[in-house]
Amino acid sequence: MFVYADNAATTRMCKAARDEMIKCMDETFGNASSLHTTGQLANEKLTAAREKMAKYLGCAPSELYFTSGGSEADNQAIISAATLGAKKGKKHIISTKFEHHAVLHTLSKLKKQGFEVELLDVHKSGIVTPDQVEAAIRDDTVLVSVMFANNEIGTIEPIAEIGAVCRRHGVLFHTDAVQAVGHLPIDVGAMNIDMLSLSAHKFHGPKGVGALYCKKGIFLQTLIEGGAQERGKRAGTENVPAISGMAAALEYACDNMQKNSEKLTKMRDRLIEGLSRIPHSVVNGDVEHRLPGNVNMCFEGIEGESLLLLLDMKGIEASSGSACTSGSLDPSHVLLAIGLPHEVAHGSLRLSLSEENTPEEIEYIIEKVPEVVEYLRNMSPVWDELCKGERKHVI
Ligand SMILES: *Cc1c(COP(=O)(O)O)cnc(C)c1O
Repeated sequence: MFVYADNAATTRMCKAARDEMIKCMDETFGNASSLHTTGQLANEKLTAAREKMAKYLGCAPSELYFTSGGSEADNQAIISAATLGAKKGKKHIISTKFEHHAVLHTLSKLKKQGFEVELLDVHKSGIVTPDQVEAAIRDDTVLVSVMFANNEIGTIEPIAEIGAVCRRHGVLFHTDAVQAVGHLPIDVGAMNIDMLSLSAHKFHGPKGVGALYCKKGIFLQTLIEGGAQERGKRAGTENVPAISGMAAALEYACDNMQKNSEKLTKMRDRLIEGLSRIPHSVVNGDVEHRLPGNVNMCFEGIEGESLLLLLDMKGIEASSGSACTSGSLDPSHVLLAIGLPHEVAHGSLRLSLSEENTPEEIEYIIEKVPEVVEYLRNMSPVWDELCKGERKHVI
């Protein structure tokens, strides 16, 4: 059996997005800035995509800026707020310890430029509270950036409430909603969101395209200089097929959200139930305020990387929090942020489902993961010490 369970990393394109992209590539190859008919047909595609997406986010089409993805949108939102803050003498920025690196690394850069960056602790439930945000806000705070849902542990943050706190204090509020868009209901107006990042490939759209919502009247800094595309805020010939495919994917995801969410929640809860029977295991993050497709667990005494490789050999594709791709074996900053000890954080497994997964696949995972965990524990010196009582169980 083959099971793709890494949908938080990326998703397969849905048919609606693929069909739309192919149609666009065949029929609408024009440069949307050209004045002739071919160009104007491309421009009409852009307008239609912007209108469609705005409807699903609850904003005006003119408040959406197409980008190369979630990372660019995060960078642009934060750098814009910082630029505005610097002009007003406000150099304090609030965010959290478990943001995506697109946010954290942008903030590190700003810190070197003299901004004061305050990263809030995250409760072990994986939730940041509006009270925490309110307590951190100062007269010189220019921006609060808190993610909508975490990409590793899937916890959903109280965004509307945090937005209300920011609004009350006159502080800009940005949310990295890359894991939430197309999966959870979103209304930027009702949720008091000033800026929001999204990425198409996390909701069955194409890779390399996303968008930044920026509320009317809020200053936006250009990162890419050049032509006047995106109302002068993002230069470069628009990728019309990708943008149109993204809009089709969002439409498909939102129109089927309720149905998919119910199916996913059932599979997720069954998976958590099945894997929790493994001794000395723990589910990371709140189980209720959680993306419908996210399961994240730690198993004591094993290495996440070995677990992944053995599962891959059995046809199960998942992910671990460890940043092994970067060449370091540091455990996930997200798992450390919610207070897991290093040795436990190393043994993490993230299974992120999509509606394309089946209950049969879930049963297959429930059968295979315990086998692999046991196999690895039998070879693990750490597990040996735990069994002999030479080391204390943490979970
Ligand atoms: C995937 C992801 C990003 C980055 O999006 P890209 O489109 O891949 O640049 C940013 N934030 C979160 C929470 C993500 O999951």
